[in-house]
Amino acid sequence: MIVMKFGGSSVGTGERIANVARIAADVTERRGTPPVVVVSAMSGVTDALRRAATTATAGDQDTFHLIRDELQQRHKQAIDDCVSDMEHARALRAEIESLLNWFETLCQSIYTLGELTPRGMDVVSGLGERLSARVVAAAMRSQGLKARTVEATEIIVTDNKFGNATPLFPETRERVQRRIVPLVEVGVIPVVTGFIGATLDGVLTTLGRGSSDFSATVLGSALDAEEVWIWTDVDGVMTADPRIVSQARTLPSISYSEVAELSYFGAKVLHPSTIQPVSSRGIPVRVLNSLRPENPGTLITNDAVDEPLVKGITAIRDLSLITIAGPGMQGVPGVAGRAFGSVARSGVSVLMITQSSSEQSICFVVRTVDHSAVVQSAGAEFELELMRGDIDAVTSQDEVAIIAVVGAGMRGKPGIAYHIFGAVAERGINILSIAQGSSEYNLSMVVSHQDVDEGVRAIHQQFGLDRIGGG
Ligand code: ASP
Ligand code: MG
Repeated sequence: MIVMKFGGSSVGTGERIANVARIAADVTERRGTPPVVVVSAMSGVTDALRRAATTATAGDQDTFHLIRDELQQRHKQAIDDCVSDMEHARALRAEIESLLNWFETLCQSIYTLGELTPRGMDVVSGLGERLSARVVAAAMRSQGLKARTVEATEIIVTDNKFGNATPLFPETRERVQRRIVPLVEVGVIPVVTGFIGATLDGVLTTLGRGSSDFSATVLGSALDAEEVWIWTDVDGVMTADPRIVSQARTLPSISYSEVAELSYFGAKVLHPSTIQPVSSRGIPVRVLNSLRPENPGTLITNDAVDEPLVKGITAIRDLSLITIAGPGMQGVPGVAGRAFGSVARSGVSVLMITQSSSEQSICFVVRTVDHSAVVQSAGAEFELELMRGDIDAVTSQDEVAIIAVVGAGMRGKPGIAYHIFGAVAERGINILSIAQGSSEYNLSMVVSHQDVDEGVRAIHQQFGLDRIGGG
């Protein structure tokens, strides 16, 4: 069995949806058995839905009506463009309209109450996938395929952490097997809503923004799928962001751990949780371009190959480098523990940590939106030390970025750091801080934000990534 996920831009218009149906038809024919399909909302729809809910809570009575009209228009147009049977198209339009009526009622009550709970936000946000899945299934039927919409609320069971729920695997597996396998056995393509799930009590949850990829691998794992294919609008996992490096290339293959590092460090191809459900079962993931389905894309498996040494270079921006420094920190146990304890209490996540062995300072990187909370809580934690002069100050240097260099081939090879830092130095770029995980898969450095693009380009060129296979 193959699970295929189509992202928001792959289902962004009626024409694109018809293309998705063609891909599904082709795969069904080639393999002799239908794939399981997972879809995102049409591009931009989740954002629009969320905007409707937030403006309604803020006392705006007009925006959600406008958004409803836009969504109705957009889905109606899509249906006109990809559902040929008039009778089916009419029934589907009515169904979409009734879902949108319900959405409008929901926003009206949010407006009246002036309150929006995370649970309410999930119900609103998850509507986009419920709309798109219906249109995609209808488009498949128009092309002579058998297809049925499946609400993920019936099969993906999660905890009740609204907005960022975690699937409960044993329950999910049981339901997925029971609901999906019989459909596929009789030749029906299940079209499952990505992004959403439900608690054991049946209350709708979402798995976090951009999580339809994750929905697909959760299903892939629950079905013991042969492979999971993520259809997107780029040719696969690239060596760098092509908007920064014009010679960026598609990687023919990459390992689970490498791609996890890359997505953590801001490469937008895959949601960071995507790999976890499939890696332990060794189910390969392919990233493919729905607009160029003949391209081989990128294959993600357990095998970490050494070539190329560096697989990818990514950058995260809008960060702050927090430094806690002072002569009285040396040899005093517990300083790091207290520092990170205070950061954790302010609910902030730390992206990178360094401490020099002289123990005179601890540096760590947080998102700039969080920097004042961190400086404040660390300041409070070390109030006494600051007063006594054991610690000089807790400072925040803003407008910095992390460049992360990722590749399994870097492991155990002397001289990699020399080449990375040499390339950066040649361009006159100053490095503020450095960290390497003991896996040696990732070497990260902090630079000033005006240097980040140039730094990424320098390293890309140094390792000859513009010459590797792929497109
Ligand atoms: N539609 C959801 C979002 O925009 C999930 C996804 O597209 O993966 O966050
Ligand atoms: Mg996405």
